[in-house]
Amino acid sequence: MSTAKELSEKLFYRKKSVYAAAGEEVVQGAYEYAKGYAQYLDAAKTEREAVAESIRLAEAKGFSAYKMGDPMVKGGKYYYNNRDKNLFLFTIGSDPVENGIRICAAHIDSPRIDLKQCPLYEDGGMSFFKTHYYGGILKYQWMATPLALHGVIVKKDGTRINVTVGEDDSDPVFYINDLLPHLGHDQARKPLGEAIPGEKLNVLIGSRPFDTECDSDAIKLNTMVLLNEKYGITEDDFLSSELCVVPAFKARDIGFDRSLIGAYGHDDRVCAYPALSAILEAEAPKNTLMCILADKEETGSDGNTGMKSDLMLDLINEIARAMDANPGIVRANSKCLSADVSASFDPNFPDVFEKRNTPLLSAGVVLTKFTGARGKSGTNDASAEYIGWLRGVMENAGVVWQAGELGKVDCGGGGTVAKFIAEHNIETVDLGVPVISMHAPYEVIAKVDLYEAYRAFRAFCHA
Ligand code: MN
Ligand code: MN
Repeated sequence: MSTAKELSEKLFYRKKSVYAAAGEEVVQGAYEYAKGYAQYLDAAKTEREAVAESIRLAEAKGFSAYKMGDPMVKGGKYYYNNRDKNLFLFTIGSDPVENGIRICAAHIDSPRIDLKQCPLYEDGGMSFFKTHYYGGILKYQWMATPLALHGVIVKKDGTRINVTVGEDDSDPVFYINDLLPHLGHDQARKPLGEAIPGEKLNVLIGSRPFDTECDSDAIKLNTMVLLNEKYGITEDDFLSSELCVVPAFKARDIGFDRSLIGAYGHDDRVCAYPALSAILEAEAPKNTLMCILADKEETGSDGNTGMKSDLMLDLINEIARAMDANPGIVRANSKCLSADVSASFDPNFPDVFEKRNTPLLSAGVVLTKFTGARGKSGTNDASAEYIGWLRGVMENAGVVWQAGELGKVDCGGGGTVAKFIAEHNIETVDLGVPVISMHAPYEVIAKVDLYEAYRAFRAFCHA
């Protein structure tokens, strides 16, 4: 007769900590892997920077730029740069492409604060930029904290000026003013979501006038003169700019044990980086592999750089054409890991989590069968058959993974790019890394979860 302890170990599903389930070698691997990730985070705070940095890493691994209509060969490594904001990488496998493509998709845009097209003004002895925030932010978190400016200004003649201010230690940074608590009694009584109206997210950029004679707009003028000297722009050049305000912090280890990473933009670089490294390191794979780094996820995946665009289909058609395959068969046999972050259980806010189905920090990469809100609305609900297959793949490779759902039923919810891939007849499931303080200027992840995501992508690519 088995004891109750033996039986429960045999029969019950329990989440396991990566530390207990995978052992010291994996933990060491995770700490080492995290160093490359931290560099990627600092180099890639916007989607444009993520595309540039990813291309740099890909070219170093022998990937070359692909244009529609170019030939492809088995074993060939290609990337397609979509408008510098969205990147597709693909490697043609040795097996027939009609066996399907293994697709790893993640997004490289993150919540932030964008400048309006007429941003510059002065008021009350200071000059500011007007902004319109991008994605779901808790506005109060972005106030009274150092901010950097990243982006591009494109002049009428097509000249593109890259802007990065606030990253070098010698750079100035920027700031959004908040109210002092002494005068904040009315503000403090408001609900968090209403205390800071969007129009108050004005970025402080100067206070020194051009001269002391000028009665109005002397500070605005001085700011514009400095911008003209540095970038050669006039105020109307803002009309064709994309300038983003992001936190000025760098990625840092968190904790005495250095087990965590604090950074801006883990959502979703913590999935994009391991998806990218899995395809970059795949030498002569048998499966044809594709890595998609998408833009515009945080605003609904719309536009020609978001996952709703036809470009993925066009590229799959290109691969099918080049390899003499039927594109419908290629898609029907393709499989996708749609990778995005999940909300980690947080003991400071236990009420919003359902503890049996919530992702736990350091318990490995998270498989999420369905997302959506209010009765799974808007979900890609992955099939039991596909998840069954994936369980086998992960367990054969020793990947520590957990099942997880985003919070309690009807507490909120969310979705990501999975449904826009699945609707093209591709098996798709959500997978990702648990995050603490998602969408905050400084989010937290565990190194071991990042590494299990990488090991999951690797196992998936080669299974
Ligand atoms: Mn995300
Ligand atoms: Mn997000």
